[in-house]
Amino acid sequence: MIVILLGPPGSGKGTQAKRLVAKWGWPQLSTGDMLRSASTQGTRLGLEAKKLMDKGELVPDEVVIGLIKERAQAADCESGFILDGFPRTLQQAEALDQMLASTGREVDLAVLFLSSDEVLVRRLSGRRTCLKCGSMYQLETMPPRSQGVCDQCGAVLVQRDDDKPEVIKSRLAVYHEKTAVLTEYYRSQGKLRSVDANQPFDAVTVNLIQALTEK
Ligand code: AMP
Repeated sequence: MIVILLGPPGSGKGTQAKRLVAKWGWPQLSTGDMLRSASTQGTRLGLEAKKLMDKGELVPDEVVIGLIKERAQAADCESGFILDGFPRTLQQAEALDQMLASTGREVDLAVLFLSSDEVLVRRLSGRRTCLKCGSMYQLETMPPRSQGVCDQCGAVLVQRDDDKPEVIKSRLAVYHEKTAVLTEYYRSQGKLRSVDANQPFDAVTVNLIQALTEK
């Protein structure tokens, strides 16, 4: 099954994607994680991307489309994958469709994470991320067991540069301007489902699994 988790930054797509990975074993393809990893490794692509990410802007379509094309060819993606943070523009969505069609596949479902900007700002401001393994925490609702330390791998947790208040605003504006149109794109294909992402994480997981399994 090929599933897209669609929604604004901070709506919990990454957290829920990891839960689906644990439940169903499909890999999570997160362009944000791929770009952060390239930036940590100091590759030219990663460093260029970081400049845009730190301002809350989108990385060029051709860059992220290239990353997804390469990753989706891997053997572990054969029986499906979960897209988290891709596509973010109409051009990316169309490129994804073309790429899948070339191997006789298609997107099965896109699940829209509905959340208010007020909740998103609060969540993103309190988010802490492990740069080593990608685990995410939320100081109010999902804190680590030991302050500032990743439960999974013991590395130090950081606040992402783009989770700082001034950048959060730009990221939300970019979402409304460039990504929100994808809702209509998938709705018109009869592939859109939605979940109330303002709920606590466990309730969202229950609704998400329902959305993905209901006929
Ligand atoms: P995320 O971790 O999904 O919130 O992504 C963090 C940042 O990476 C975004 O604010 C963008 O700068 C960049 N990024 C991630 N995915 C994409 C994408 N599909 N298209 C363009 N830029 C992206």
